[in-house]
Amino acid sequence: MDVPAHWANEVCSRLRVSWVAAGYNGPLVAVGTYGPDGPCYLCVAAGEEARLKPGAHPRMGGKGALAPVAGSSGQLIAYQVIALLTGIGREPLGYVRGMNLMAPDQHVHVRRPARPDCPVCAR
Ligand SMILES: [Zn+2]
Repeated sequence: MDVPAHWANEVCSRLRVSWVAAGYNGPLVAVGTYGPDGPCYLCVAAGEEARLKPGAHPRMGGKGALAPVAGSSGQLIAYQVIALLTGIGREPLGYVRGMNLMAPDQHVHVRRPARPDCPVCAR
């Protein structure tokens, strides 16, 4: 478990604490909120992995990212944490949303169910 999001997923699930993850890949930025009554980070990631054809991950323009992309990711996670803490504009648990800054009409909307055999959230 060397990925920080996996560690956060495991710990927050055990403590039944909601948490937010955000990130970017090239121009694609995304954010998701996870919690004890929704699918966990691993379930959502596994659902997306299963949806993609093997080896057919979308090309995001090569290595690296422009600073505004990283900044947008930070803004998304800050907004989502405020939404989680205040309940204002809060997203459903396990819902990931975002956008491709090179193609702003390509929005990200991902919802996947919890897996019944998930080692984290099906305990
Ligand atoms: Zn899970």
